[in-house]
Amino acid sequence: MSIPTLLPNHLGGQWVTGSGAGTPLFDPVLGTELVRVSSAGLDLAAGFRFAREQGGSALRALSYGQRAGLLGAIGKVLQAHRDAYYEIATANSGTTARDSAVDIDGGIFTLGYYAKQGEALGEARVLLDGERIRMGKDPAFQTQHILQPTQGLALFINAFNFPSWGLWEKAAPALLSGVPVIVKPATATAWLTQRMVQDVVDAGILPPGALSVVCGSSAGLMDQLQPFDVVSFTGSAETARLIRSHPAVAERSVRCNIEADSLNAALLDPDATADSEAFNLLVNEVVREMTVKSGQKCTAIRRVFVPRALYDAAAQAIAAKLARTTVGNPRSEAVRMGSLVSTEQKANVLEGIARLRAEAEVLFDGSGQPLVDADAATSACVAPTLLGSRAPAQARLLHEVEVFGPVATLMAYDGLAQAVELIRRGEGSLVCSLYSANPAFIAEAALALGSAHGRVHAISPDVAASQTGHGNVMPMSLHGGPGRAGGGEELGGLRALGFYHRRSAVQAGVDALDALAASAVALKL
Ligand code: NAP
Repeated sequence: MSIPTLLPNHLGGQWVTGSGAGTPLFDPVLGTELVRVSSAGLDLAAGFRFAREQGGSALRALSYGQRAGLLGAIGKVLQAHRDAYYEIATANSGTTARDSAVDIDGGIFTLGYYAKQGEALGEARVLLDGERIRMGKDPAFQTQHILQPTQGLALFINAFNFPSWGLWEKAAPALLSGVPVIVKPATATAWLTQRMVQDVVDAGILPPGALSVVCGSSAGLMDQLQPFDVVSFTGSAETARLIRSHPAVAERSVRCNIEADSLNAALLDPDATADSEAFNLLVNEVVREMTVKSGQKCTAIRRVFVPRALYDAAAQAIAAKLARTTVGNPRSEAVRMGSLVSTEQKANVLEGIARLRAEAEVLFDGSGQPLVDADAATSACVAPTLLGSRAPAQARLLHEVEVFGPVATLMAYDGLAQAVELIRRGEGSLVCSLYSANPAFIAEAALALGSAHGRVHAISPDVAASQTGHGNVMPMSLHGGPGRAGGGEELGGLRALGFYHRRSAVQAGVDALDALAASAVALKL
């Protein structure tokens, strides 16, 4: 039997293999071991210093336009190796090609988007934030707010569900800003992140220290952070608490962005009927959200709110579509939905369903259907489950427990005010979608729900073909959410650059401000 490869880390401008036997990564469908990772024994202090000093200064020596060119070149390298990434995703994440695309092509698309945005910033090295403001009666002395890249590094601690997109949606704005990146992927699916970084580093596009990857244990990473560094975390609320209370954040004011869990909702117009297009659009979107990536999307619909009169019709329509979802080995042509990323996640999802069942009825349970080309006992495949509640106002767990798999709960509501109140019980989510043919309803509901969500996604018949999907995170729109969702903000076009820049007010005479403006460009959002 051959010994599985121990994937090297890239730190301090070199490839370094961690010590020890390493942690194995598995194929969640076949149960076979694929590769191993280890971060044991790495000189983190030297590696972080190298990124900060070498990578940071080399990136900051370039203009925004030049850095945008680097993003474009990274996208080309990733395109060239795309087939290998699909193979790794199938093997390590258990995803169908359609689901792998969300992660792999989603990441490449986001890079391309920021390459274009950055190109428009041209040869500037500083961003002007707003207009000059007079400081008193005499116009000679004014204040100009400016944004400059932070002179530190960006540490990304990522979740298991998006090993590609999770890296590039953060790295694109960081590198465009001139800030070096160290990524620590979630162990279960670290292979794809590691391979992408390896391809980009080997292509020699970026200056040494601009992009590093540490796979395996997170031990000691947070301890390395210095005041001008930033940390961006995506993962569970529990780990988020540890990150927030770490001395780097609590005492050294390291800027911290958190994307945590979320009980995203879908809301059908109270005036919709079972034969309306809004109803069909909701049914299609709920099924899509439950099954794409086996429901392992932080943005997936978890709670579905329909007017009480449509509860039964919605249950039947969603269940009928879910019944046609074939689950199993993603290598099989017949399979629509692959597996969860690990048997550990499968156990978590099954436990989560059991918890929700204390407050909900089962409207559809796909577990009775045979898996295609996969063993129910050993694979991490989990069939979709639709739960339901006719009395969601009395429920607590349904608004609290995020089951990170192909699971959603249908809920009956009485009137918009109650629906809004119930949706807000999620205590802050990434996205809420609305289904209606009535623009006035969409406007009213969007305003009632906007402050509790990072994004409101309204689907009406006129945009049925062009809408981008409830759970699809597009780089031009904000991603993040208040409260339980972590309170973070990512993407949103050039808004994303704000996290990687420091704002200062320069108070000076107009001639000095003119001189400063020579190397700057106005940030237009
Ligand atoms: P997790 O267990 O919190 O792990 C997330 C990351 O944190 C992993 O890289 C993990 O490394 C690392 N980590 C674990 N303990 C740590 C510590 N003490 N210090 C520093 N890092 C530590 O979360 P998960 O189970 O992978 O992810 C699922 C959750 O992520 C879901 O709740 C989902 O909603 C959320 N999510 C949110 C978004 C969003 O954009 N809002 C996107 C995707 C997922 P190891 O893997 O090595 O343990």
